[in-house]
Amino acid sequence: MQATEPVTKEITLQAWSRRPLIISGPCSAETEEQVVTTAQRLAATGKIDMLRAGIWKPRTKPGMFEGVGAKGLPWLQQAKKITGLPTTVEVANGKQVQDALTFDVDVLWIGARTTVNPFSVQEVADALRGVEVPVLIKNPINPDLELWTGAVERVARTGIKEIGLVHRGFSTYGNTEYRNAPMWHLAIEMKLKYPQLLFINDPSHICGRRDTLLEVMQKAIDLDYSGLMVESHIDPDNAWSDPKQQVTPEQLKEMLEMIIWRRDDVNSDEYHRALENLRQQINHLDDELMQILGQRMRVAEQIGKYKKENNITILQTNRWNEIIERASLKGDKLGLSKEFITRYFDAVHMESINHQKKIMDS
Ligand code: PEP
Ligand code: MN
Repeated sequence: MQATEPVTKEITLQAWSRRPLIISGPCSAETEEQVVTTAQRLAATGKIDMLRAGIWKPRTKPGMFEGVGAKGLPWLQQAKKITGLPTTVEVANGKQVQDALTFDVDVLWIGARTTVNPFSVQEVADALRGVEVPVLIKNPINPDLELWTGAVERVARTGIKEIGLVHRGFSTYGNTEYRNAPMWHLAIEMKLKYPQLLFINDPSHICGRRDTLLEVMQKAIDLDYSGLMVESHIDPDNAWSDPKQQVTPEQLKEMLEMIIWRRDDVNSDEYHRALENLRQQINHLDDELMQILGQRMRVAEQIGKYKKENNITILQTNRWNEIIERASLKGDKLGLSKEFITRYFDAVHMESINHQKKIMDS
């Protein structure tokens, strides 16, 4: 394998600072022709800033396609040479960082399965010491912001200046609507914690299917994400990994044209736009709250079933006092008044009781 001349840092940083930053490419690099053709067709849309491709693929089970490995890196170089698109790949250990840098990959990303493991993140970070390369950090697969934050800190400590966050959703048991539940509230919390960092949404791994991609992309744009990372394949149904969620470059172009881009231009009507943005956030959070309330009622119904089987009363004062006490303490820390917390929990409790009563009477 022969490394070619690296493109200048400026080109990378120019692409990096574009807003919205649109990253696209196949889930996995499969063949040279597939990588180059995808890159050409993506470049032809005129809407893509960076080419992604998985070279090393972390798979749940052995025997599945685990990526072509380092032999795919020259394919990306070739694609970049032809299209001018900077490239990004996932790295999970020190060797992969070195290989990617040797072959002139412009931006590295740490995948969700790596972010969960501080040993791996540290190994990647150690390999990055003294290197100037932008690094994207995907959220960990489980909904744990501390792990995500920890990965940001490990990478930042090596002196890496350009760090971006990628929100790709969280794995939840029994979730069916999404492959990885977005849990927008967690992403927003992270965004508020690191307002200076690039914040990218990955609708492909959130949705796991094509037909809901646009909706999630729009939501991310409404929430003022800095950009999107969307998987695109020249023949999605026959992709070697993640076939259901990939779209052709032309389909992606159409989707990007359908998105209503919310500009944050201060010259015109700044106030109304800011307000609209906040209202969208409120709507999304309210949707999330409703979902969670629904889940809470399902759990209450389960408790109802046990109480029925064991012939126990619905109302148990001790337990209720404990809930209120816990909530008041927590609410206080979150700046929620005791009065509000009490009224809110009364309402939730009444609703729970009604759900349990239905079970008891059935
Ligand atoms: C990917 O981007 O192809 C990938 C493996 O993503 P994640 O780490 O989010 O699962
Ligand atoms: Mn994928």
